Amino acid sequence: MKIQAPVSKNETYTGTVMDLTYEGLGVVKVDNYSLFIANALPGEEIKFVVTKVGKSFGYGRVLEQITTSPDRAEIKAEDRKLAQAGIAPLQHMIYPAQLKFKQHQIESLLAKTKMDLTVSETIGMDMPYHYRNKAQIPVREVRGQLETGFYRQHTHDLVPLTDFYIQDTRIDKAIVIVRDILRAEGIVPYDEKTHKGIIRNVMVRQSHYEDEMMIGLITNSHTLPHAKEIVAQITESLPKVTSIIQNVNSRPTNVIMGPITNVLYGESVIHDSLLGNRFEISAQSFYQVNPVQTEKLYQLAIDRAGLTGNETVIDAYCGIGTISLAMARHAKDVYGVEVVATAVEDAKKNAKLNDLTNTHFEANKAEYQMAEWQKQGLKPDVIVVDPPRKGLDATLIESAAAMAPKKVVYVSCNPSTLVRDIQRFAEVGYHVTAPIQPVDQFPQTPHIESVTLLERD
Ligand code: SAH
Repeated sequence: MKIQAPVSKNETYTGTVMDLTYEGLGVVKVDNYSLFIANALPGEEIKFVVTKVGKSFGYGRVLEQITTSPDRAEIKAEDRKLAQAGIAPLQHMIYPAQLKFKQHQIESLLAKTKMDLTVSETIGMDMPYHYRNKAQIPVREVRGQLETGFYRQHTHDLVPLTDFYIQDTRIDKAIVIVRDILRAEGIVPYDEKTHKGIIRNVMVRQSHYEDEMMIGLITNSHTLPHAKEIVAQITESLPKVTSIIQNVNSRPTNVIMGPITNVLYGESVIHDSLLGNRFEISAQSFYQVNPVQTEKLYQLAIDRAGLTGNETVIDAYCGIGTISLAMARHAKDVYGVEVVATAVEDAKKNAKLNDLTNTHFEANKAEYQMAEWQKQGLKPDVIVVDPPRKGLDATLIESAAAMAPKKVVYVSCNPSTLVRDIQRFAEVGYHVTAPIQPVDQFPQTPHIESVTLLERD
């Protein structure tokens, strides 16, 4: 049966927003056909134009907001372009409503199952702006001038920006200073079409607990002209910079960093701490971007695990070992597994840096390593999982259950795979025993992070 959409492109309609998608788009129905519309909140009546028509749903754009939701936040004129850039897709919602939205997203996924589970109120931030500790900003020529900014959503058109809204303000300031230095030195910005030019991106990492900053200059060319002068000016204008690196990426790709990194000044790493452990972070290390909320998230995982110092813990998907090291202080032994080999090297190095001798790391796929540990007879008391968006492999759940830990602590960045996986855990005898707790790691965006405790029946 061919389904005919009841709307056509460029038609205008008036309607009431019924709901929000997991991406934070407003949902308006026309004859039961859903249209997804940015900057539209539940309850608001809007006039909109249809911009895209698909088989089962379409997209629209607001032409006029007829009524206003009490959840609507006022957006300053200068922040409007942030929406175009897709940096802060929820900036039009007041923060308490964003937190409710995140809780509700998990609740509505659970409502479609037979499970009757509670979701707690999302743990938010006191200051839900300027929280990111890392930026990777494209550098392009706009109207004859070197500019730093953000791509207009779904394009490669650079929108010049100086206030990035969710980045540490020290990073915002540093980007403007570096931009001015690159301009003064006549460095040619990269051009994606011709694959010519020199500077592609400026990367900045800011340590939260230590006053250290790393500046990364990502270049298309092997040499950076006037490197000496650039370094001298950066260190003079930004005295807190402890590391300047040049990363060469001469490939025509969207991947930001290339394989070669040269240290132009200071160290190749900066240092930061999480729950009392110190970490060395290189230009390419994966490191959580919201330090304040990450500590709350990890502390919650530790609390849910109920560690007393005698437990054997597995940390699957351990990255550079941030959760492993935090748990190692409260457990007998921690076994970590991570697929990216360089991250595992970082994890080992960081364990040493913190004099922790009870951690063991493997570079492997978590689903393979879990089966391996099971075969070796490892008997964990607690298994922590922190998988990427696609969630857990079904075989991992089987191996995990076969090792019969008392507890599984599931740190999730995607409620839909979380809900799928807790159903699978139920089939192998593990049930959720505490309210699911969302923690807002990414204010102003629809990303939802949460911690769930499962226990053996
Ligand atoms: N727990 C860490 C990292 C979580 S992000 C932290 O909080 O910082 C998820 C991690 O899973 C990433 O480091 C990614 O490289 C890793 N990963 C993805 N697929 C994997 C797999 N199949 N097996 C093991 N690790 C995997």
